Parts: sequence; C-alpha cells; structure tokens
Amino acid sequence: MTALLEVSGLSVAYGAIEAVRNVSFVVEEGQIVCLIGANGAGKSTTLRTISGLLRPRSGDITFQGRSIVKEPAHVILNRGVAHSPEGRRVFARMTVEENLLLGAYSRKDESGIQSDMKRVYELFPVLGQRRTQKAGLFSGGEQQMLAIGRAMMSKPKLLMLDEPSMGLSPIMTQLIFDTIKELQGQGTTILLVEQNALAALALSDRGYVVDLGQTTLEGPGPELLADERVREAYLGT
Ligand code: ATP
Repeated sequence: MTALLEVSGLSVAYGAIEAVRNVSFVVEEGQIVCLIGANGAGKSTTLRTISGLLRPRSGDITFQGRSIVKEPAHVILNRGVAHSPEGRRVFARMTVEENLLLGAYSRKDESGIQSDMKRVYELFPVLGQRRTQKAGLFSGGEQQMLAIGRAMMSKPKLLMLDEPSMGLSPIMTQLIFDTIKELQGQGTTILLVEQNALAALALSDRGYVVDLGQTTLEGPGPELLADERVREAYLGT
C-alpha cells in the first residue's frame, strides 16, 4: 500500500486557541479513513488545514509524496484533494447543475465533466430529477448529497467529507454511507470526519480518535468499534 496523504506532527491554532496539537495520521490509497471525536476536538480544523484554508503552526502534510503544506487552496484542489465542508454550504440560489459545474470549474475536459455529472445523478437520482431547481429548495439530506456531488465533480484522488451525516434521518444517513462505500469501490480514497462514530468506524479501513486536538487511539475501524474505551466515550455503551 502507498500513502496518498500523510499528516505529521500537525499543530494548528486560532490565535491563542490551540485547536490541533501534534496530530499525525496516514491515508493509504484506496482506503476510507475516519477521524472521530467530540465537538471541538479539532477534526474540522485538520481538514481545513489539509485543503489549504488554514496554515499550520508546525508539522507537514504530504500528498502523493510531495509537501502541500505551503500550497494555496486552489493548487491543492488541482492536485486532487476535494473538501465537502461541514454544514453543506451549497449555493442556495443556484441550480443543482450550476452547483455541480462549480465543483468542476478547474477542469477543461468537457466530456469528462459530462460523464462525471451523469455519475453523480446515478448515485443520487433525486439530484438528476431536480437538476434545474434551485438548491435552496432542497431538504438537508438532499443538500448534503449535492455538497458531496460537487466535491466529486473535481474528480478528486482524495475526497474529504466533514460530517456528511449531520442532521440527517437514519435512512438518509444510511444512503450517504452506502454512497461513500460505493465511491471507494470506484477508486476514490476517502477521509471522513464524523460524530456518528458507530456508522463511520463500521465503514472505515482505519480510524483515529481525536481528543482535545490530539489523536489518542488508532486502528482498523472494526477493531476500534470493539474497543472498550471507544465504546464508553463515543458509543454510550
Ligand atoms: P465540530 O464537530 O464541533 O466542528 P471539530 O472536532 O471539528 O468539532 P474544530 O471545529 O476543528 O473541532 O474546532 C477545534 C477548536 O478550535 C475548538 O475549540 C473550536 O472552538 C476552535 N475553533 C474552530 N474554529 C475556530 C475559529 N474560526 N476561530 C477560533 N476558534 C475556532
């Protein structure tokens, strides 16, 4: 296995608030890796730093063996790292199709864009049926599908999903997690941030527990799922 993404000794602060402290983890090519942990543990900050929206205080991030830690966000996106942020953030006044095309803005391969759009509509038929409607009219679950679809449109090697199940019904959550598995089957590597530890670990090849800005436990998803400490802290059992 080759490491697609390697985060080593990453520390990130907002002024005096140290949000991420010396975090290290590896995402191998083809894997689903999840970061789980309580509110405010530093998971979203880690993703924002990987995608170049924040600069770390120290540490390194390599993607395909090259450091991206000093690159601007658009270069990181062009290298193949897509980020579906927490809270959906779709463009409410734009149609489904326009939102998806924005995800592909840096691409020039028109036929590839069209076939990837078709793929998004196959994964999420409701988006295809309503492709000319404004995204603001959609339910939370549908907006989440659109946010994931938009991230897929950049044709990423690594797809980072921040809380894809947030605020969704159990049925919708299941659909999103099934889709994540399907995307992996189609060759996309996935870095997932989730509070729904049970569903995320069940799906993941590897999981990391983040607590107060530090990784405290790591292992294969199913193994962490069986770990007493994880069960007590995050699964309520
Ligand atoms: P959540 O799931 O609640 O988003 P998280 O694990 O993703 O949790 P972060 O959002 O990364 O955690 O937040 C880590 C810490 O950094 C928290 O203490 C949070 O209050 C703080 N923080 C996050 N964003 C900012 C910001 N823009 N300015 C100042 N502090 C921030």
